[in-house]
Amino acid sequence: MDTQKILTENDLKHTKQRVRVLEEIAREVTAVSQPDLEKKLGKEIDRVTLYRILNLFEEKGILHRVIDRQGTANYAVCAPNCTANHHHDEHVHFNCIVCQKIYCLPVALPKLKLPAGFTTETLNAIAYGTCDHCNKQP
Ligand SMILES: [Zn+2]
Ligand SMILES: [Zn+2]
Ligand SMILES: [Zn+2]
Repeated sequence: MDTQKILTENDLKHTKQRVRVLEEIAREVTAVSQPDLEKKLGKEIDRVTLYRILNLFEEKGILHRVIDRQGTANYAVCAPNCTANHHHDEHVHFNCIVCQKIYCLPVALPKLKLPAGFTTETLNAIAYGTCDHCNKQP
């Protein structure tokens, strides 16, 4: 994942802090929780700045947010077709109840048949269960 390129493409200045936040999230296969980011980056980036960077990245279509069972925000890198204020992360999220990790799964969301008069703007689906890694543990 070329974090520098992502920032350039989104007309964002390459501040050291932005690069660090993006790197930290991009190198994980799973989504990274905000408390984990605070723990990892706490010495370099204060909470308010981290919060601002995460919001900015979400606005720009770089990251998407997933709320887990505890109501905690987790962040994952977006698909390349996400743009500013237009996210296309229409995939299922999976929250493992053993390791608590959140995965972006390459599984498309079902199309909802809504009653007349209702239109969908966004749809979030989160599945809870045991991930492949935890299922392998004895
Ligand atoms: Zn997105
Ligand atoms: Zn797991
Ligand atoms: Zn996702």
